[in-house]
Amino acid sequence: MSTIAAISTAPGNAGIGIIRLSGEKCFEIIEKIFVPKKKSPVVGYSMKYGKIINSQTKEVIDEVLVSYFVAPKSYTTENMCEINSHGGTIIEHKILEECLKNGAVLAEPGEFTKRAFLNGRIDLIQAEAVMDIIKSRSEASLKMAVRQQDGQLSKKIKGLRRNLLDIVVNLEAVIDYPEEDIEEITFNTVSEGMERVKQELEYLLKHAHTGKILREGLQTVIVGRPNVGKSSLLNALLSEERAIVSEYAGTTRDVIEEQLLLGSVPLVLVDTAGIRQTEDYVEKIGVARSKERLDKAELAVVVLDGSQTLNEEDEEILNAVAGKPCVIIVNKGDRPQVNDLTALQKRFGKDRVLLLSAKTGGGLEQFTAWLQSYVYGSEHAISGGAYVQNTRHENLLREALLSVEEAIRAAASMLPYDCLVIDLHKAIDAMGLITGDTLQDEIINEIFSKFCVGK
Ligand code: GDP
Repeated sequence: MSTIAAISTAPGNAGIGIIRLSGEKCFEIIEKIFVPKKKSPVVGYSMKYGKIINSQTKEVIDEVLVSYFVAPKSYTTENMCEINSHGGTIIEHKILEECLKNGAVLAEPGEFTKRAFLNGRIDLIQAEAVMDIIKSRSEASLKMAVRQQDGQLSKKIKGLRRNLLDIVVNLEAVIDYPEEDIEEITFNTVSEGMERVKQELEYLLKHAHTGKILREGLQTVIVGRPNVGKSSLLNALLSEERAIVSEYAGTTRDVIEEQLLLGSVPLVLVDTAGIRQTEDYVEKIGVARSKERLDKAELAVVVLDGSQTLNEEDEEILNAVAGKPCVIIVNKGDRPQVNDLTALQKRFGKDRVLLLSAKTGGGLEQFTAWLQSYVYGSEHAISGGAYVQNTRHENLLREALLSVEEAIRAAASMLPYDCLVIDLHKAIDAMGLITGDTLQDEIINEIFSKFCVGK
């Protein structure tokens, strides 16, 4: 395999930059472009101080520290070097250029991690978790990605896959040696085994949605007629949150997404442009706009003005959210209340109607608490096992579940064991595609191409 090189740190000015090299010729290349202060043999997990030079003109490019990793004890399991240079795009590029001039090729996105996978050091779930860590938006998501990298989800899925393989082995034994007493025992074990796997798959899938929210944020809209306090609520939330991750305007329309972490729930507030505009007196949001936004959301936050009786517009919005995932905020809780809270609670559920004051901040904590329990269910789920948070994994698990269910049905209808074996093999293959145990090159390439260069 070729020796690859790439800048691993993010572009821009920073204290240090790291240029990574991996492959057979790694030390040879370093030898040509690096003049250490003290010459010494290469030792794994060691660092040398010295200068990177232009291999032709001998001109000094930067003062650096080079770390050495000797195969197989490295990230990729190949010989590796990491050049710690001063940060700054120009220096990093000059050093990279020297590596390339002396025999390295530019690494493709994710190629270091891909090599770690191809060389058997990590499995596919762990490799994908590396990508998730890089892209992670929220703290909770980061924690989960780290956990996946530890291999928790891999272990779980590999275990289930092994259970199915054992069942297949059992069934094949019966097909080959159809003696009656073996068949009796096997039928029960097989049925129980398949049922257990089915339940575990269902559990993983049930929580996959939480994983997706953690990773991508809960798509949320704030709706309500003009003047109920939407923009005040938005501002209150934004000052309450621990970290605004980003705010950017869409290019085609005036859609603005605000991302924030409320408690441990990453929210993506969709289309807050209109809400912002009310402050500029440009446009007050009407019912039509609210309805349009509702369609896109995973959660609707309906704002009502508690100091006024509900009017037709409020009713129209409430009707539009009925049956959708929503929470009703009765705002202006600091003023005398004229609404019948109990009636609203009867209609939407007791825990879904919250009294709040965007002005004083009263009730925001309850809102955060409500969100946490809405997303995570119980406390247990937050601290508990790994969530499937990758759509590719989720789809494959769903496929596996369908095949296992098919096999269970086949067993119940006393179909020949060969039929069960076919179904179970489908499930085994789908699960193998998650961990990378059965994977075609093209899928591998597609997955790793989504990485950034240098990882
Ligand atoms: P929007 O049109 O729904 O975005 O409403 P705004 O956030 O612009 O609020 C409309 C008016 O209600 C403003 O004068 C706010 O100061 C006021 N307001 C908003 N929230 C509260 C609240 O909790 N208590 C009180 N007393 N006034 C509020």
